[in-house]
Amino acid sequence: MRTQRRLAALLLALLMLAGCSGRFLTPKTEDPAESSETAETAGTPDSPDPYGSSGSSDSPDTPGTPDTPVVPDTPVVQPDPTGSADPTDLPDPSGASDPGGEDQPPFIEDGHVKSISLDKYAVVVQVGQSDMPWVTMYPESAENKGEVWTSNNTEIASVNSWGKITGVNVGTCQVTVRSADSPDVKAVVDVTVTAREVIHVEQIVLDKEEVNIPVGLCDMPIVTMYPTTATDKGEIWESDNTAIATVNSYGLITGVGIGVCNVTVKSKDSETVTASVTVKVTARPTFSEVTYINGILVVNKTYGLPQSYNPGVDPTAKAALETMIAAAEKEGIKLWVESGFRSYDLQTTIYTSYVSREGQTAADRYSARPGYSEHQTGLAFDMNSFDDAFGETAEGKWLAEHSWEYGFTMRYPKEKEDITGFRYEPWHVRYLGYDLAKELHESGQVLEEYLGITSQYAG
Ligand SMILES: [Zn+2]
Repeated sequence: MRTQRRLAALLLALLMLAGCSGRFLTPKTEDPAESSETAETAGTPDSPDPYGSSGSSDSPDTPGTPDTPVVPDTPVVQPDPTGSADPTDLPDPSGASDPGGEDQPPFIEDGHVKSISLDKYAVVVQVGQSDMPWVTMYPESAENKGEVWTSNNTEIASVNSWGKITGVNVGTCQVTVRSADSPDVKAVVDVTVTAREVIHVEQIVLDKEEVNIPVGLCDMPIVTMYPTTATDKGEIWESDNTAIATVNSYGLITGVGIGVCNVTVKSKDSETVTASVTVKVTARPTFSEVTYINGILVVNKTYGLPQSYNPGVDPTAKAALETMIAAAEKEGIKLWVESGFRSYDLQTTIYTSYVSREGQTAADRYSARPGYSEHQTGLAFDMNSFDDAFGETAEGKWLAEHSWEYGFTMRYPKEKEDITGFRYEPWHVRYLGYDLAKELHESGQVLEEYLGITSQYAG
C-alpha cells in the first residue's frame, strides 16, 4: 500500500515536471500568501519558467502539448478495467478540475480535497473475507485527507473506518468513500459478495506419537491441520480409556491412572480425518520428606517436595531480601518481588497453564512441575520482570553482581540449563545464606555443581 502511495506521488511529481504544474498554480491575481506553498514546488512566479506556467490562466499547459491530461481529477492509477466505475462519474463538485481542462478555470489549490481516486472500483469477496481499495486524495497538498466510508447495504458488505470491505452475505452493494474535508467529494466501489468456498481438512499431524506423563500431570500434542487454509480447523478430542488419561476439548491430556491408552483427535469438518497419540501414564514420584544435602534444602527436577509441604515465605530469607532491596535503592536500583512463595496447588495451576499453551516439553524448560519448584520452599524470589532482557538492565546486572552479598544465589544462569534443568532466569534468586552464596559466586558454580547432584525428572 505504501508503495502504491509512493508511486502515485512519483507520477504526480513527473507530471508536474512535464509541465502540468501550471494547473496547480494559483493565478497571480490571488493572494500571494496563499500560493507560496505551490510556488515552492513549481518555481516562483518571478523566476522564468521554461514551461510558461507563470500565471496565464487560460493556457496553463505546456505550450505545444495542449492535450497532456491534467492531473487532479484524472486517477493516476487507471480505473478498474471491469468498467464498473466510469471515470466521468468521478465527482467534481467545484468544477475546478474538469478533464476537458482547456477552457475551465484552473485548479485552485486551497488546501481542500478536490477528488478521490481508487486503485479499484469493483471488488469481489467471499462471505467473511475482506478487500481494501487503495485511496489517493488530490491534491497531494490537501490538509485533511480523512476518509469516511459507508456501505449502502451492510447486510451484503460492511466497511470499516479505513476502507476494509468485508463480505457479509451473497449479493451486490456499493461502498462509498467520501472526503472528511469535503463530503461532496467521493468515490464509489461496486462490491460483489460470493458464497464462501469451503476448503476441507485432509490430514492431521501431531508433533509427537507418544505422551509420557505421571499421574496428575499433563501434556498437549501440537496439532497441525492440512491444508493449512482449511475453512474449519475445529478439533474433537477423545480418550479411549478415561481411567488412564482424560483429554479436554483443546487436547490437554491429563494422566489419571497408571497404564497405556490412546487419545485421538478428529477434524470437526471431516470426522474421518484423525490422528492418535499413545499415552503412557506412570506412577507419580512422591516425596514424603524434604531433601537436605550437606544441610542445604535442595529442590530441583531430581529432588521434589511433599505435596503437603507448605511453609510460606521463609522469615530469614525475607529479611535478607528486604535488606538487599534497601541497599539497591540507595544505589538508585529499584528492585521488587514479582513472585515469592508459591504453594503446590498454585504451582499446579501455573505449570498446567504453560503446558496447555506450548506442550510439556516447552513448559518443562521454564516452569517447574508441582512439587519441584524452589518457590514452594519460601526461599526463592522472582524479581522485577520475567523477561530475558531483564538480565541486561541495570537492575538485572546489579542483582547478578550483588545478590550474593545478601545471601542469595542466581539459581538459573545462562548456559547452565543442562546442569540446573531450567533455562536462563535472570530474575530468580534463591536464599542460601552469606557463606554459601559467597562461595558459589566466587567459584561460578551453581548448586548442582557444588553438591555434585543431577536435576532430571524421573518420569
Ligand atoms: Zn522463580
